Amino acid sequence: MSEPVSATATRPALVLSARGDGARPSAGRLLATVGGVSHPEPLGICPHCGGPSPRQTPRYVDAICDSCQDRLVDVHGRPVAAYNESLLGTGLVVLHKDDEARCESSSADGRVFIDGRPYRAAEARFGGVVVRPLPE
Ligand SMILES: [Zn+2]
Repeated sequence: MSEPVSATATRPALVLSARGDGARPSAGRLLATVGGVSHPEPLGICPHCGGPSPRQTPRYVDAICDSCQDRLVDVHGRPVAAYNESLLGTGLVVLHKDDEARCESSSADGRVFIDGRPYRAAEARFGGVVVRPLPE
């Protein structure tokens, strides 16, 4: 936003196919090597809404964005939010947003949904929670 102009002026603009057609931006990924293992390069694009997803890393190339993470529901369609179980940033617990009670089904396997699509919430390697698409 307020970066020096020289840092961004020469970078080609990323073309998003955000036309609401549900297409997942998966083509044309480069490979990066992290820890001796090849990972796809994160595109920084949310696989659900096509918007920017700054939380993506080479380990979590398909992490959804914050605004989609705010829209998670459980298998019954109740709004839920995923948290670390401990203050140290480990474990996973999913709570119903309405009464803050533990969602047993989503806490057990991390399974959550957005607009009917299945996702899995998981403890991120270095703390926090990451939500990624599940195969349908
Ligand atoms: Zn999103």
